[in-house]
Amino acid sequence: MEEQISRILFSREELLKRIDELGAEITRDYKGKNLLILAILKGAVPFMADLIQHIKMPLAYDFMAVSSYGASTHSSGVVRIMKDLERSVDGVDILIVEDIIDTGLTLKYLKENLSARNPKSVKVVTLLDKPDRRKVEVKPDYNGFTIPDEFVVGYGLDFNEQFRNLPYIGILKPEVYENANE
Ligand code: 5GP
Repeated sequence: MEEQISRILFSREELLKRIDELGAEITRDYKGKNLLILAILKGAVPFMADLIQHIKMPLAYDFMAVSSYGASTHSSGVVRIMKDLERSVDGVDILIVEDIIDTGLTLKYLKENLSARNPKSVKVVTLLDKPDRRKVEVKPDYNGFTIPDEFVVGYGLDFNEQFRNLPYIGILKPEVYENANE
């Protein structure tokens, strides 16, 4: 697996240091609020698991699954809810936890969909932001790192469901997806 990575962008130590800072900011901003951490399956799971341990206040967490990518490195542009919340979010302060914002299509859809359910607020924390590829205007309220237009894997991010278990964020060697497309 490691030999298919051309470069490590962020080591586990660098990720955790930034997550500690994000957790402190979120703790400060959400003091006294009714915080629901909403992680988007599957990519955001490792980030969410580390982040919640750095948020020092009561919170609840839940998951949604949406589909936007198939087995490719490009978004289809169509977003569908595959798993929805089980409870009402009326009056709740929702913090969406994303692995990466790329075109922004997934997040725009999610924010609109959730806002229609009468929550008190809807904000977004993403580990990575790739603003060069944006197709719709959407900005994270909290961002771990801004990255260039490269396809990254690890720490929850996959290629064909693989590489999610790497403890760091890395760039795949191009021959990995070139071979997969054959
Ligand atoms: P968007 O709707 O913003 O284009 O895409 C968001 C989703 O696409 C992310 O949650 C992630 O699952 C996937 N994605 C976007 N860029 C990358 C990338 O560089 N690597 C991986 N593994 N997934 C990505």
